[in-house]
Amino acid sequence: MKNSPKKLGIYVHIPFCVRKCNYCDFVSYPIGPQAGAEPDSCSAAAFEPAEGTSAYCPKNPAETAPYFRTLELETKALSEIYMNWDKVSCSGSYEVDSIFFGGGTPSAVDPDFICRQLDAVCCLFNVVPGAEISLEANPGTLTDEKLRAYRLAYFNRISLGVQSLDDKVLKIMGRIHDAKEAERSFRLARRHFDNINIDLMMGVPGQTAASWLDSLKRVLDWEPEHLSFYSLQLEEGTPFYRDYREGRLELPSWEENREMYHRGLELIKAAGYDHYEVSNAAKPGFECRHNLKYWNMEEYLGLGLAAHSFMDNKRFEAWEFFEEAEERASAKLAAEARWNAARAAAKRGSDETAVQAAAAKQNADGAASGSKGSSDASQSLSAARRELFEQLLRNISTEDENELKGDFIFTQLRLIEGLDTELYRRLFGTEFESDFTPVLTELFSEGLLKNVSEAPASAPSAGTKKPSRIAFTPEGLDKTNIVMERLLSLL
Ligand code: SF4
Repeated sequence: MKNSPKKLGIYVHIPFCVRKCNYCDFVSYPIGPQAGAEPDSCSAAAFEPAEGTSAYCPKNPAETAPYFRTLELETKALSEIYMNWDKVSCSGSYEVDSIFFGGGTPSAVDPDFICRQLDAVCCLFNVVPGAEISLEANPGTLTDEKLRAYRLAYFNRISLGVQSLDDKVLKIMGRIHDAKEAERSFRLARRHFDNINIDLMMGVPGQTAASWLDSLKRVLDWEPEHLSFYSLQLEEGTPFYRDYREGRLELPSWEENREMYHRGLELIKAAGYDHYEVSNAAKPGFECRHNLKYWNMEEYLGLGLAAHSFMDNKRFEAWEFFEEAEERASAKLAAEARWNAARAAAKRGSDETAVQAAAAKQNADGAASGSKGSSDASQSLSAARRELFEQLLRNISTEDENELKGDFIFTQLRLIEGLDTELYRRLFGTEFESDFTPVLTELFSEGLLKNVSEAPASAPSAGTKKPSRIAFTPEGLDKTNIVMERLLSLL
């Protein structure tokens, strides 16, 4: 009997922003008028591609086109490798129920590129009706036309990076917008979308609990369906990190940060949102389906530069392998063409042959550039690249059991309902409680974790364990990293 398709999420990375924010270490390059220039308090390091990332580092908008061309090729190759399309039933190994275009700032580039890429994903993968399709956008990059184009292309959720409604804080962060622009963008998005997330940040330099709560209250008045509220992390290589190391940046204290978090949560819950993940809350039914895949260790495929995938218990960046396959395939084809030309020349020894040899070499060089060769050459390149790409992906080793258990703790514990011990047993064949005693016992007695038993819908049959979850207590929510580290120390 044919297996029913597995669920899959697809993430598409768009590595372009108008300019780099002072705290950001995401893989993104500025494309706006300030591309290549150093903003006020930004170090040049912020504009350098991270070590080991692709050569795509556009300094002007025109260079987004080659990125999207390659992205489409990568999308096609990944669909051929993973989808196993059955032409008769029009189904494949996977059903895509969530797509997320993130970055970077997807809304900073020409919407034609974005909509065309979504088309490619929808044509090449089995996207189910009603799939959640999100696009990250920033205030200051949205227009009514863009939003209409996204909606027509079947995006149905917008995630807006507001971060704060305090202009002083926004300036320190290096954001391109002010509070007025943020509200204008939200109202504009509301005309087209009935599912909107707002990203806010806590613990930012210059921010007080009062200014954070003021921003939060004003955002709650807008009534978005979803809220994300992460604390600032100082990431190496960013201007914030450098300034902090040099004593030029003062951050709110830990106590202030916690006050922002807990008082913020009170407001969020009072406004009717369900706090479902450490840093996320949603109106009932609007939890982010795509992000839930990460927290539930479900499979997802990452397309584009630096996008992560988790497939068949393997974690990888497909783009890296795609570029390697392209390079190797081009080199192989060029070498073959040179060899054939030399052999033909040796065989015939005529001027005419030398001309043909030169033509063959030109074809091979065209194939290597990936753009100019004859259609034969590009077809050979495409087939060779696809074969090498599949080989490279096949050779990635699967995570070992301890790595998977570590991932499980890191992701599942972030859920407010807690880590699912029954799922743990199904995945690893052992009991979570026995694997993590005695640390677990200590964490329970210190009041950082609690055991939440779910009442079964019907009486459990003999031998069936009552499902239980292990969750952070309110005190534990202040020490999530410490709790996780202590559990991971047992692996
Ligand atoms: S807009 Fe987002 S991705 Fe772009 S630089 Fe700022 S924080 Fe980073």
